[in-house]
Amino acid sequence: MSDLEVYRTKARTFLESMAPKYGREARTGNSVEQDLALGREYMAARYDAGFGGINWSPDIGGQGLTHLHKITFDGEEMQFGMPVQFFGISLGMPVPILIHYCEDKLFVKERVRKALRGEEIWCQMFSEPSGGSDLAALRTKVETDGNGWKMNGQKIWTSWAQYCDYGVIVTRSDPTVEKHKGLTYFFIDMKAKGVEVRPIKLAGGDSHVNEVFFDDVRLEDSQRLGAVGGGFGVSLHTLMIERYIATDSAGFGPHLDEFVKLAKTVDLNGKPGIEDGRVRSAIARNHAMRAGLDAITKRAFAMMMAGMQPGPEGSLQKLVAVRSRQKLSEMAMDLLGAEGLDFDPHAYVKTDWGTSWLNAPTGRIAGGSDEVLLNTIAEKILGLPQDYRPDKGIPFNAIPA
Ligand SMILES: Cc1cc2nc3c(=O)[nH]c(=O)nc-3n(C[C@H](O)[C@H](O)[C@H](O)COP(=O)(O)OP(=O)(O)OC[C@H]3O[C@@H](n4cnc5c(N)ncnc54)[C@H](O)[C@@H]3O)c2cc1C
Repeated sequence: MSDLEVYRTKARTFLESMAPKYGREARTGNSVEQDLALGREYMAARYDAGFGGINWSPDIGGQGLTHLHKITFDGEEMQFGMPVQFFGISLGMPVPILIHYCEDKLFVKERVRKALRGEEIWCQMFSEPSGGSDLAALRTKVETDGNGWKMNGQKIWTSWAQYCDYGVIVTRSDPTVEKHKGLTYFFIDMKAKGVEVRPIKLAGGDSHVNEVFFDDVRLEDSQRLGAVGGGFGVSLHTLMIERYIATDSAGFGPHLDEFVKLAKTVDLNGKPGIEDGRVRSAIARNHAMRAGLDAITKRAFAMMMAGMQPGPEGSLQKLVAVRSRQKLSEMAMDLLGAEGLDFDPHAYVKTDWGTSWLNAPTGRIAGGSDEVLLNTIAEKILGLPQDYRPDKGIPFNAIPA
């Protein structure tokens, strides 16, 4: 058995021991607050069992294993439905960036330990009403008085901000230069004076994204991560940290077997749905598509095991998987008829078609919208010319807004 397979078995044994208390079934019906409390407990147990910071250096409290060990653990954990959703962004991007750029190593060590144990949560504040896909169009501004900084502006769609202790943020420090060049990156205390978090209610009734407002928020220069004017580079670094994460060819929605089960039981014009040509063709198409995505994932994994960097084909994953999950969920709801419109706020996205359908559009936007991923595929995989960029070379404050 390879080292990774031994590790997978070890991970599964741990997860199986945790599942009765923290797994999907134990969480059913929980409020967000109950789930968060359970999540914090689980994170502490995970840390104590040696599965915290799997691929981080032992110097800062990690396990010193490889990225492949981490993907292996995450892939297994995903199947148990543990309450880890609050901590994914925190440990995925902001904390690694803090580790890389913050010079106060004692402070970093303390933050890392608390973040790994679920005691503290970090958010990532990039998107704004005027700068989402085009990150460099952001307008939250900082001004220096030579002794620190004052920040004013607004971020939006910040995941879990209402539960966060700290966050990383990219701001405009110089509007007189090209848009990519006038940005500076900081970390902030989410409880600081002048920071106001307002949850946004989503279609499914939940509020895991927020608007965050800043009114004369005071920042010390020691909160700066990277050089003044170097914020775009640090932002790209943030987005590239874990390019290869555990993926799911079902687009984080129901498994295809669930659809086949439904098609066999549902009545369509006096016959089982599975006998309908459109239903059969949807099953075949989704099977082929998911097998293709799984093959891309396997190839990326094999490349990483051989010490190579997989290419940009990973951007196909989210685009194809979430889009087809949305279509398949729509068909399942049609097959269910009126029952397909029943809404259960506690239903699980991997077993409930209505929840999967309602939740799918956010998956088509977060982490890069479909159109932006299509641009990546066009430019990086197909080698087509770059997207038209009319504001190239123009100072930010000269771009019409
Ligand atoms: C569930 C969820 C969680 C999120 N969490 C976070 C978070 O924690 N932190 C954070 O900073 N942000 C977060 N976001 C925001 C997310 O990153 C942005 O929504 C995303 O980058 C798109 O930006 P936008 O919403 O401003 O849309 P816009 O960029 O305004 O896009 C509007 C439309 O125009 C299209 N478009 C834009 N540019 C192009 C182009 N060049 N070519 C073709 N079409 C284009 C888009 O595809 C889209 O259809 C989250 C979003 C969601 C839905």
